[in-house]
Amino acid sequence: MKLVSTRTPGLHATFMAAVQAGLAPDGGLFVPVELPRFTDVPELLKLDFPSRATEILHRLLGGEFPRAEVEALARSAFTFPAPWVKVDDRLSALELFHGPTLAFKDFGARFLARVLALGAGDRPRTVLTATSGDTGAAVAQAFQGLPGVQVVVLYPAGRVSPLQERQFATCGGNVLALAVAGSFDDCQRLVKGAFEDAELVSRLGLTSANSINIARLLAQTLYYFEAAAQADPGPLVVSVPSGNFGNLYAGLMAQAMGAPIHAFVAATNANRVVPDYLDSGAYRPRPSVATLSNAMDVGSPSNWERIHARFGGDHGAMVAALRWGSCTDAETTETVVALDRAGYLADPHGAVACAVLRAHLHPGEQGLFLATAHPAKFREALTPALGREIPLPKALSDLLAKPLLSEPLAAEAEALRRRLA
Ligand SMILES: *Cc1c(COP(=O)(O)O)cnc(C)c1O
Repeated sequence: MKLVSTRTPGLHATFMAAVQAGLAPDGGLFVPVELPRFTDVPELLKLDFPSRATEILHRLLGGEFPRAEVEALARSAFTFPAPWVKVDDRLSALELFHGPTLAFKDFGARFLARVLALGAGDRPRTVLTATSGDTGAAVAQAFQGLPGVQVVVLYPAGRVSPLQERQFATCGGNVLALAVAGSFDDCQRLVKGAFEDAELVSRLGLTSANSINIARLLAQTLYYFEAAAQADPGPLVVSVPSGNFGNLYAGLMAQAMGAPIHAFVAATNANRVVPDYLDSGAYRPRPSVATLSNAMDVGSPSNWERIHARFGGDHGAMVAALRWGSCTDAETTETVVALDRAGYLADPHGAVACAVLRAHLHPGEQGLFLATAHPAKFREALTPALGREIPLPKALSDLLAKPLLSEPLAAEAEALRRRLA
């Protein structure tokens, strides 16, 4: 697979080079030069998830990896289901939270970890990640125990939920958790500073594990095929709860490859940069506001650049291809409660996608919203409205007994450099 930067038409990279670099050297994002359009989609949809993943990834990456390697990678990364759950006559959820850290980030992080381990060779690699919650957990779990890769997770001390902290700060081994005396913005600044230090980047083999990394997005295309495989006949409309817009971009890639998805709904919380752009044509990134669906609190969505490039920057084309909308916290809570009364427990992110989908579904269409996280991750916020406790799944309750292994770090570039040296 040949990739190109969103900012420089001639700036190409192989898949492995793009994965190792994260960001393109011109500051752009890597996107495929072209995607194959599969002519045997009905046959692909008959396969189980790991077999279909192997087949699709082999078609995309066969020039760089032997089929047996792709198959081993797919079978070890995608070990959990993505079930379709019917909510009512018209709406269903695709549950993407059955992986080890109970959020859809597991799909991309587990695939990325295995690709990087393959390419590590004898050169050490260090994955540096700032997190405000879910990404740190998925990345730490995915890279835990993999040879040749060191993981460093920076998080704002005291500002992530106790369960989230335990998900990445109890691993030990090749996972180092640093509790930064500062905010999430400080953590991102420290990571950015480390990537600007050319000597550090080359000595440690620094790489990024956030959703600017194309490997994560390629893995995410696979569950859109899984959605289509479980759908009833008829036009399928998929609603994607969006923050950085990597998930929606993955959906558009799957659709381009032939996944039978009639339309996408871009659903946000009060952070309305993209809905406002689609409404008005004016793109105005701004500071994020805190909401119940905190993983979508993004004021400058990094992957919008990929979607923008995919439509050649044509606002009219984007408006014609997408449906969109947003949801306040009050509407999110109302939706969680209404779904619960109807027998389905959604997390706030899935609830945003559900509420916006309902408003944009036409007669005769089947609506599917992506349930991106397990509701128990948000039990403190949901308990009062639901009027009952959400039980903790074993993956979370087991963590409560484990000791925290994080180290404190001052929010200064020099402190991070010293710790990494
Ligand atoms: C990261 C995340 C999102 C947003 O996904 P993007 O690809 O950034 O748009 C939605 N829901 C949950 C639970 C997340 O962790």
